[in-house]
Amino acid sequence: MGRLVMKFGGTSVADVERIRNVARHVEREVKAGHHVAVVVSAMAGTTDRLAGWCREAAPFHDAREYDAIVASGEQVTSGLLAIVLQDMGIPARSWHGWQIPLKTDGVHGAARIAAIDGDEIRKRMEQGQVAVIAGFQGIGPDKRITTLGRGGSDTSAVAVAAALDAACDIYTDVDGVYTADPRIVSAARKLDRISYEEMLEQASLGAKVLQTRSVELAMVYKVPLQVRSSFEPPDAANQNKPDGTGPGTLVCDEERIVEQHVVSGIAYSRDEAKVAIRKVKDQPGVSASLFGPLAEADISVDMIVQNVSADGSTADITFTVARKDLQKAIEVLNGVKDKIGFQELMHSADVAKVSVVGIGMRSHAGVAARMFKSLAEKGINIQAITTSEIKVSVLIDEAYTELAVRALHQAYGLDAKH
Ligand code: ADP
Ligand code: ASP
Ligand code: MG
Repeated sequence: MGRLVMKFGGTSVADVERIRNVARHVEREVKAGHHVAVVVSAMAGTTDRLAGWCREAAPFHDAREYDAIVASGEQVTSGLLAIVLQDMGIPARSWHGWQIPLKTDGVHGAARIAAIDGDEIRKRMEQGQVAVIAGFQGIGPDKRITTLGRGGSDTSAVAVAAALDAACDIYTDVDGVYTADPRIVSAARKLDRISYEEMLEQASLGAKVLQTRSVELAMVYKVPLQVRSSFEPPDAANQNKPDGTGPGTLVCDEERIVEQHVVSGIAYSRDEAKVAIRKVKDQPGVSASLFGPLAEADISVDMIVQNVSADGSTADITFTVARKDLQKAIEVLNGVKDKIGFQELMHSADVAKVSVVGIGMRSHAGVAARMFKSLAEKGINIQAITTSEIKVSVLIDEAYTELAVRALHQAYGLDAKH
């Protein structure tokens, strides 16, 4: 048996009893002969609480101290799981990011992994010791603790798996990747397999079951990745098969997907805000003078729509930014108002982005048309549209998010047949 990385998210380690359950999943894999490394998240709610304390201490706080504080959640769970495993007679040792070391760049709060030294952990795993790694954290060039952005333990797990040449099982509170968030679409179906590319789109369009960066890494390093539930009994029946597939969803190369669908899923994100600039001069260079300063302020712009204004001689430009960036975007644009010369700036945070994703779109026409028709039938107005080779996204009024996701899920024939 080979090396295996098992990652457990917040609800899977929510209290000591849940940690005992996690230990039983680990025990099963150790007994099956795997060399195991475990990556753990903080207990459910812990990271939110720690981040809340930082904001309470000072609304604009030092990102290095934020990292030092929020990283502590994972440190607690890694230690607790090591204790529980030891108590069951399984040799185990906890590891913080700096002890591995898992090196990152210096972008505190949203760091990227630069390198992982897997030697020491590999050696101990070969001696039969389970490495229990605190997810979400690393060490930056300034030798201080960094964190990888919310949901970052998924990325820790995949990166460790890549460094150890191991397979990676992500245990969470749902039993796989579904055709839509099962919490809002009761008819959603679990997928046996999904391609790296589709999963990457799903994650970046809002499906938080995997952090986007973790899917990118899995795709680049060809890490066999499975999403499965920690809430299923930790007994032998739930052992992965010798080919590495198991009870969850395998994220894998396109070629390994036998049953191809045109659309494999519907994603949504409420993390959107819309800015509309009315009556800007319709001449070369205007978009550059608008979007240049936003880029300089590190604000990513997603959807962009330009129309001719009602007066026929100027343009209206509408675009979206992440909701957290809205205030900053407004300040930046007001700062360049005189230079650009627009008449009015309007904004709204009551918008959501709904997307259909599928590799089958490459070879099938009519996917977007069906989307627009089914939203029209529900009386949902589309405010902006973006497409890529394998996805179509629309911006709508936030109040219609769930209605839109359910309608689209049905329109593409994704509803489970009861
Ligand atoms: P963890 O704490 O284990 O990292 P997360 O809350 O980050 O878990 O991710 C799991 C959640 O992702 C599920 O509870 C589910 O509501 C949500 N989710 C969103 N889209 C999907 C999808 N397409 N398939 C499965 N889960 C999804
Ligand atoms: N605990 C961190 C978070 O809540 C990282 C993770 O769980 O993946 O974002
Ligand atoms: Mg998560």
